[in-house]
Amino acid sequence: MIDVHTHLGSCCSWSKRLKGWVKVGIDDLLAYMDENEIDLVWLLPIPGRVDPYARIVGPELVLRVAKEYPDRIIPFCVIDPRNPKAIKKLEEFARMGFRGFGEFKVKLRIDDPRSIELYRACGELGFPVLIHMDDTYNPDIKGLKHVLEEVHDAVFILHGPGWWRHISALVDEREVYPSGKVVPGGMVERLLKEYPNLYADISAYSGLNALSRDPGYAKDFLSKFADRVLFGTDFPCIAPDGSQFGPNGSHIELLRNLNLAGDVLNKIIHENALKLVDI
Ligand SMILES: [Zn+2]
Repeated sequence: MIDVHTHLGSCCSWSKRLKGWVKVGIDDLLAYMDENEIDLVWLLPIPGRVDPYARIVGPELVLRVAKEYPDRIIPFCVIDPRNPKAIKKLEEFARMGFRGFGEFKVKLRIDDPRSIELYRACGELGFPVLIHMDDTYNPDIKGLKHVLEEVHDAVFILHGPGWWRHISALVDEREVYPSGKVVPGGMVERLLKEYPNLYADISAYSGLNALSRDPGYAKDFLSKFADRVLFGTDFPCIAPDGSQFGPNGSHIELLRNLNLAGDVLNKIIHENALKLVDI
């Protein structure tokens, strides 16, 4: 199994059952992997201290641990597009051995021209681009359409509440984690249908919620887009029930409980990730 969305560092918990910071190091990540039969992870930095509720380690440390455990960890890099040397830095990262770009989490519109320039460079380097989308970071889904029209040769992997709430055609923009039946024909479905270079990452509470709210729709959705959905958890972030994504098994349990066809499950839990970044 491949978990495409993991971090090292600290996350702050807002759960009623757990308060404060949870900090994990490389031994914790490896223990999570061993205990849950995760063979490989994509390890993602975020661009600096952008999120006051997460202190995630940067690209340098990601690369160091990936070099120590090359058969367990795929290193991703990330850069703030406002850095005037962003493209140069990205090319340097590629030479250093990074394999992808993300988690891209910046307070800019997703289709900011500086971001678009970076996505293009990622496409040229063969780096998949993993983007967190919500109302603060990389909004919004209409801008994503603009990005997909502009950039054809990069793979985009979307995650976060700003993406997943559009699994339904009926969206209340005030709801971060909407509940209730999915109305088919949402932007998620329409964009996946239209753009073959677009993928979805089921990690964190946003993915879990989107696929739990209407199991019938979720099963059809995952079967239809089996080639473009990736299993991820957002380890070491904390779930609303105070447990930890990854070790709590919530994402894999969700997939298993949907009784997906064997080939669908295999694509989601490892084949698609291998297709995007080989080892
Ligand atoms: Zn994350």
